[in-house]
Amino acid sequence: MDKPSPPPAQRAEPREIIELRQLKEDQPELASAIDLQIQLMNMQRRVQSRVPLPSINLEAAHLDKALAAGTPILAFDHVPIDWSDLRFLVRSTADAMRTHEAIEAEDYRRVETLSRDAGALAPAVRNWYEAARPVPAGGHEISPDIAGLEPVLLQAMRPFLSRCADAIMARTVFQAWPHGNCPLCGGEPDFSVITPAAERLLICSRCTSRWRFQQLACPWCLNADRSRITSFATRDGLYRLNGCDVCMRYIKAFDGRNASRQVMPVVDAIATLTLDAAAVQRGYR
Ligand SMILES: [Zn+2]
Ligand SMILES: [Zn+2]
Repeated sequence: MDKPSPPPAQRAEPREIIELRQLKEDQPELASAIDLQIQLMNMQRRVQSRVPLPSINLEAAHLDKALAAGTPILAFDHVPIDWSDLRFLVRSTADAMRTHEAIEAEDYRRVETLSRDAGALAPAVRNWYEAARPVPAGGHEISPDIAGLEPVLLQAMRPFLSRCADAIMARTVFQAWPHGNCPLCGGEPDFSVITPAAERLLICSRCTSRWRFQQLACPWCLNADRSRITSFATRDGLYRLNGCDVCMRYIKAFDGRNASRQVMPVVDAIATLTLDAAAVQRGYR
């Protein structure tokens, strides 16, 4: 007789969550931001495991040709969104953010309304997605209906968009993409990494794509004048921050030349909250 099979093993915690727990022990003042991030990641993982491939042609030659045209290659209609999963994520992201006091009461109410109205969510998400594209490729001001709700939509869309990014990054390194915005979705970078070979990669705030970019230049205004870029690092040399003295925006970097692990954007973004505070104090945004 067959022995009953053992219960399925608990899926191992992702490395990011282990790192976040460690960070919380080391820096308890970051606990609220860390708990929120862990909660969001757990929700997103559940959905991400069943997101199918994007409906874009994934042949490398096709992707590279599309990239050479200079507009972000992933159209909104390529994104494999399951609308009931997305509605769940929009609502539960807002709930988690409210628990951690990371959303205004008024914005929370707007998210509730949005997630209840099936006819409103789809155009709102499309508007958010397409707003980030360059203007000639359909970019526009974000609609007033959803202005201010971007952090919620960004988190809720993460499993769908990062699935697309993983699929496409497995087939191209975005060689022909010289721009500061994301080659996939058009989003802005919100983190960067310096590789052990001293290359600089930008990381998209929305889909997590990574692409190579000039060593020094500002991704927003392309200022590359060394005397008008202010750079500072954490004491351990693991993180750097480059502030642009022309447009006053800044970007943080994980310095892979001094690291014992790979960059983990969700972890590193929280580990560097003190750098953000320092940047804001110096007038960057
Ligand atoms: Zn992107
Ligand atoms: Zn700039």
